[in-house]
Amino acid sequence: MTDTQDKALVLFSGGQDSTTCLAWALERFAHVETLGFDYGQRHAVELAARGRVLAAIRERFPRWAGRLKDDHLLVTDVLARLGESALTHAKPIETPEGGLPTTFVPGRNILFFTLAAALAHGRGIGRLVGGMCETDFSGYPDCRDDTLKALQVALNLGMEARFVVETPLMWLTKAQSWALAEDLGGEALVRLVVEETHTCYLGERTPHDWGAGCGACPACALRAKGFAEWRAGRRP
Ligand code: ZN
Repeated sequence: MTDTQDKALVLFSGGQDSTTCLAWALERFAHVETLGFDYGQRHAVELAARGRVLAAIRERFPRWAGRLKDDHLLVTDVLARLGESALTHAKPIETPEGGLPTTFVPGRNILFFTLAAALAHGRGIGRLVGGMCETDFSGYPDCRDDTLKALQVALNLGMEARFVVETPLMWLTKAQSWALAEDLGGEALVRLVVEETHTCYLGERTPHDWGAGCGACPACALRAKGFAEWRAGRRP
C-alpha cells in the first residue's frame, strides 16, 4: 500500500455508523484521523459523543490507540442558514408523500466529503471514509453509492489527487452493521457503541439495550430494529 493509501480520514459524528466505520478504518490503516462538523445541529449531544467515543477507543483498544491520530472539527453552520431542515431547526420530523424526509440537509454529504478531501489533500491522506448506507435507506439521495462514486471522480479531477471514497456500510442492513462492529472489536466494541454513541434526532439519552435515545424518532427506530434483528439472528 502506498503511504497516502495507508492513511484515512473518517467522517466521524459520534453516531453508531461513523463509530463502526472508525473501527473498520483502524483495523485496516496505519494512520487514521477523524473529522467532525458543527453545522448547527439541533442538539450538541451528538458532538459531545465524539469526544467520549474517541477517549473510549484509546482506553479500551490498545491495538488501535497508536493508529488513532488527530481529530478535527470544522464549523459549517452555513448549512443551517441555507434552508430549514428538521436537523437544524425546530420543525417536525416527517416524510411528506413522495418527498424527501424533513431531516434531509441538501448538499450536506457532498459538502462534508469536499471539505474532508480539502483537509486530506494537505495531510497526505488518500482514503476518505463515511458511514453512508443505501440498504436501510433513510431516503437521502446524497447517501447513494452512485452519488459518492461520482463525487470521488469529481474530487480527484478537481484536486488532481487520488482519493478513494470508502463506504464500508453501503450495502449492509442495520443488523449487519451491529455484526460488523462485533467482528471488528468483539463485545467490547458493541458495548462502546451502545453506551457512548449518539443517534437520536431529538437529542434524548434515555437508556435502552440498543443505546440511548427517545426510542421513537426514525433514527432510534432504525437503530433499535437493527439491534433486535442482530441479537435474534445470533442466538443459537
Ligand atoms: Zn430518538
